[in-house]
Amino acid sequence: MSLISVRTLLRFYLLILSCFLPLLSCFSQDLEYAHKVIDTLASPAMHGRGYVNDGDQIAANYVAKEFENFKLSKFQTKNVSLLGETLPVLVKPDTLNQYFQNFNLSVNTFPSGWGIGLGAKDELFPAGSIAQINPASPSITLTKCKIIWLDSSVVYSQKKTSVFLKSRFEDKILIIDSKGITGIENQKVLNEARHNAYGAKCIVEFKNKKLTWDIAQQVNTFPSFDILVPDSANATLHKRINATGTMHFYVENKFLKEYKTQNVIACVKGTQYPDSFIVFSAHYDHLGQMGKGIYMPGANDNASGCAMLLNLASYYSKNPPVCSIVFMAFGAEEAGLLGSKFYVEHPFFPLKQIKFLINLDLLGTGDEGITVVNGAIYKTEFEALVKLNEQKKYLTQIKSRGKAANSDHYFFSENGVKSFFIYTLGGIKAYHDIYDRPETLPLTKFEDVFRLLIDFTDFLELK
Ligand SMILES: [Zn+2]
Repeated sequence: MSLISVRTLLRFYLLILSCFLPLLSCFSQDLEYAHKVIDTLASPAMHGRGYVNDGDQIAANYVAKEFENFKLSKFQTKNVSLLGETLPVLVKPDTLNQYFQNFNLSVNTFPSGWGIGLGAKDELFPAGSIAQINPASPSITLTKCKIIWLDSSVVYSQKKTSVFLKSRFEDKILIIDSKGITGIENQKVLNEARHNAYGAKCIVEFKNKKLTWDIAQQVNTFPSFDILVPDSANATLHKRINATGTMHFYVENKFLKEYKTQNVIACVKGTQYPDSFIVFSAHYDHLGQMGKGIYMPGANDNASGCAMLLNLASYYSKNPPVCSIVFMAFGAEEAGLLGSKFYVEHPFFPLKQIKFLINLDLLGTGDEGITVVNGAIYKTEFEALVKLNEQKKYLTQIKSRGKAANSDHYFFSENGVKSFFIYTLGGIKAYHDIYDRPETLPLTKFEDVFRLLIDFTDFLELK
C-alpha cells in the first residue's frame, strides 16, 4: 500500500470518526448530566424532597436554578382583582418573571422521629427497613404496654374470637398477624382491628413483604406501625414478644397546616407557533425524612423523571422548537397529585392551548421497554410513538394502558388535555422505601427514551 493511499485511508477514518464523535460525546453528556441531577435530588441534603427541613423547597430551588442556567422563560403568576374576582394573569412567556407557582397543603411529618421495640427501651427495630410508622400517627411519649394478639390462634377459635370482639384494649398494644388467615369474614375482623375498633393504645401489624411509606394529610387518634417479619422468622418473633409480654414505642409528629409548597414552571418559546404549547411534566417531590438521618431518596421516583425533564429543557434551550415547550416540575404529587391538580385549577394559559402533555415518572430503567398510560385513549399519538420506535429501534417494547389516576397527567386528561404518562419497565424493585437510591438506577434506556421523546415532539409539532 502506498503512502498516499494510507493517508487517504487515515483521512477517511478521521472523517468518519469526526461525524460520530460529537454524537457520542453529546450522548455521554446527557447521561452524565442525568446522573448528576439524580445524585443531587436523591442526596441527604434534599431530605427526601418532603416537608421535614424544607426538603421540598430545597429541591424546587435546585430545579429553578437549572431552568435559570438554561435561560428558560418564566411565567408571571400575579393575581389581579377583576369585578371583585381574583384571576391569574395570562401572559406570554417572554414578559414573565416567575418560575414558582405556590400552593398550600396540610401534611403530617415526623421531624424528631419515632421508635418501636421489644422489652427494654434501647431495643428498637431499625426504622424504615424493619419497622415503619403509619404516616397519620399522632405524637405519644415513650410508652410501655402489655401486648394482645390478633392472629390465627384467635381467629380460628370461636371462643377466643367472641371474647376478642367484646373487648376493649385501652392500655394495650394490639398485634395483628394475618399469617394463615383467609376468608372474607375473617378479613373483616382484621380490617376492623386495623381501624382500631377495639380501642387499643397502639396497633402493630406483621408484614411479610417489603415495607413502604406514604404521606398523610390528617392525623389519626392512635399510632400504628408495620413490622417486617418474613414467614421464616414469624414463630421466633412470636416467642420473643411473648417472653417479655410487652412492647414500647414513642412518636413525635408535627402536623403542618397550610404548608406553602410550589410547582416550578418554565418555557422555551416556539419560533412559529408560540401560542401552541407542548408540555413535559415530572414531579420533583418525594416522601421526605423521618427523624434524624432516615429519608426516602426517591431516585427512581422521581429524580429520574426530573433528570429527563431537565435534559429536555437543556436540549430545547439550544434547539428552539416550532411550538412553545413548557416544563412543569410539580410539587406534592406523593400527597395525592396536589401540584398538578392546583395547576389545572389555576393554569398560566388556557388548557386548550396545550397540544399534548407528556408526564415523566419512574424513568430509571427500561430493560423491558416502557408503558404509556392513556396510550389506549389517544390512539393516533400512540401509534405514531410506536412507529417512531420501530423505525429507530430504541426500545424493545411499548406497552399501552387505559386511563389511570397514578401520576400528574391525570387531572390534565380529565380536563380535556391530551396526555400520556410514560414510565420505564424492568430492573429495580425499590419503591416508596429507603432503598430507592441513585446507585441502584441502571438508566439502561435513558438516552433511547430521550431520543424517542424528541422524535415524538417533532411529530406533535407538525400535527
Ligand atoms: Zn412518582
